[in-house]
Formats: sequence, structure tokens, C-alpha cells
Amino acid sequence: MTESTVRQLSELEEAAAVPVPNADEVASRFPVSQNPTPASDEERAQALRDLDFGTTFSDHLAIEAWNPEEGWHGRSVEAYAPLALDPSAAVLHYGQEIFEGLKAYRWADGSVWTFRPTFNAARMNQSAVRMAMPSLPVEDFLGSIVQLVRVDANWVPSIPDSALYLRPMMIASEPFLGVRPAREYLYLVIASPVGPYFKGGLKPVSIWVSTDYHRAAPGGTGAAKTGGNYAASLLPQQLAAQQGFDQVCYLDAATNSVLEELGGMNVFVRRADGTVLTPALSGSILEGGTRSAIMQLLADRGVPVTETALSLAELVAGIEAGEITEMFACGTAAVVTPIGRIAGDGFDFTLPGTELTAAIHDELGGIQRGLVPDRHGWMYRLV
Ligand SMILES: *Cc1c(COP(=O)(O)O)cnc(C)c1O
Repeated sequence: MTESTVRQLSELEEAAAVPVPNADEVASRFPVSQNPTPASDEERAQALRDLDFGTTFSDHLAIEAWNPEEGWHGRSVEAYAPLALDPSAAVLHYGQEIFEGLKAYRWADGSVWTFRPTFNAARMNQSAVRMAMPSLPVEDFLGSIVQLVRVDANWVPSIPDSALYLRPMMIASEPFLGVRPAREYLYLVIASPVGPYFKGGLKPVSIWVSTDYHRAAPGGTGAAKTGGNYAASLLPQQLAAQQGFDQVCYLDAATNSVLEELGGMNVFVRRADGTVLTPALSGSILEGGTRSAIMQLLADRGVPVTETALSLAELVAGIEAGEITEMFACGTAAVVTPIGRIAGDGFDFTLPGTELTAAIHDELGGIQRGLVPDRHGWMYRLV
């Protein structure tokens, strides 16, 4: 047995392994009130042809509210529309918000599926703990997604590499400027038909390793999926883009020497001897569902994956010595993306390998699209 097959499951992986509640039952938790003015067939057809990332939204959203007296209440799937939010709402001032990202895939037979939604449900609640927000019942997370996708099923695109991107989120809606956890929250799900995140298929991206900026720190919020982490990544991302790089790779804030992840994607490193490394969850890395699935798929192939602290110095030496030949980034939005160039202060390398990246891309993408057997029971039928 390889090291990776005896690996202990993370808390999120454990949560994702329990049986998923029945889709019909959870959907009925969210009564539907139809949008009286949905997009016309023509408008929708055009939106489903000209796919971008996160620019157009479907006709409906799912919503519910929380306060200490009633708990979660007021569930509905209703017309997509701007929110009426008090200008003093806590989220606008102190950033108390969390989100998730998953996709609904249309299979060749017309059915619609999503990938491991209980992993995302559990992660949303892990994020909620860190951000002092109420936890959301798994049945509500699933029900909101099932019902929204059922109502907006005609928004799930069918062209290659497309999907309906689902964005669950929770925000502190209480009108209050004091600094303490809010007493009112909204949970919402919106849906956007999307094409490939990085245009041009498996085109390698270039990465700048930042020693000047960090996205997360020990004891901070890096392991929570919260907007503030992304806000912190925008300036370094902009500076890297000005130098011609696609993405930034962050190092740990404590020592500025150990590889963590990109602004919104985890990373894997393949050695020439065939073994694979990924940064160990340090507390300031976001645990990706894609990362978890890839570790399983590699284990299935008998490829040992070591979760470890990989220093930038080791990485640079490894690439220089020809011992590291391939790197890729992964996340729901882009699935798997080869890293073709990695540069930072004093180094600039081209990574030629894309073999394992392509194999994992095809296998995971194939499972998500119903083209490869789902050995691990990851897919959940929505429609
Ligand atoms: C969402 C996210 C990921 C990827 O998570 P997936 O579950 O694979 O989509 C990785 N890093 C960060 C910082 C993220 O926010």
C-alpha cells in the first residue's frame, strides 16, 4: 500500500464521506416564487453561447435569513435581484462574510450533477466558525442548490467545458457599526453560466512567487473561504499581472520561505521520479475539494502524494537539478491548470511537463461530466 492510501482523512473529507440527504427532500425546504420577468429565450441562448466567468446570472437566487430568535428562516428561491441592504450592514464595514464555489455540470443525457456538495457544505461551516458566523444545516446548503438548479435548469450550459457556477455565500446583514459578531445574517446562492476559467483549454499559466505579500498568516483567516483573503490578494495579483504573470504564489507569512498556494488555487509538484508533493494544510492554506479529489485519484494510480512543507529553496534547487519537472494548480473554477513558468526574486524557470496534469484534468473532468466512472461516489444528481 502506498503512503497516500493510508492517509488520514481531513475533517472535511470525513464530512463529505457521509451519505448525502435525498435531493427531493432537501429541495422542498425552499419554496419557489417564480421570477415574473425572466430572461427571454433569446437572451438566455445568447448568455449560454457567449460564456465568460461570472458576468451573467440566472433568473433566480436562493435566500434565507438568520437571527438569534428564529434561527434560519424565510427560505425561498425567488427572482434574482439587487439586495436591499442597510448601509450600516456589518458586512460592508468589517467584511464578515464567507462563500463557496461549486459547479453544476450537464451530462450528455441531459441530467445535471454537482461534485461532492457535502465537502463544500462542511467547509462553509468551518469557515463560519472562524468568522464567528452561525452554522448552516447541510440540508439547507444542499436544498438551496438543488432547488435553484432545478428552477434554473435551462441555465445549465451544454457546450464543452462549460457549467453553471454556483456561488453560495453568507453575509452579516445586521445594521450596526459596533465591532462584534453580527446578530443577523443572510445566506444566498446565485448561479452563473461559465465557460473555461482560463481561456484556451489546458494552456500553461505563469506564476510569480511573492516574497513581498502574503494572503494569510498563522492564526489568521487563510483556511476560511472569506472575501478578505481575496481582497488581500488583489494588489499583489495586479503587480504580478503588470510584470506579465497570470497568478501569484504565496509563501507562509511566518518564515516567508514555505510554499502555500495561489490566491484561489492549491498547487501540486511532480518530481521526475514520478512522486508528487502538495503543501501540507498549515492552517493558512484553504483546503480545496479539488486538491482532496486529486490526492485520491493519484493514490488510485499508485502515485504517492506527500503532503509536506516544501520550501521555495528546495523547489528552486529541485527545478534546477531537473528533479522537479511539472507543477499544476487546481480549484473548482479552473479544475487543473499546468504551471508553465515559475519566477520570483532571482529565479525564472520554464516547466515543460504537462503529462500528469493533462491525465488528472481528463480523469477528474471526465468524472464530473459523466464520461469516466465515478468510483468514489462524488457526483450528486440535481436534475
Ligand atoms: C476556493 C479556494 C481553493 C480551491 O478550492 P476548491 O474546493 O478546490 O474549489 C483554493 N485556494 C483558495 C484560497 C480558495 O479560496
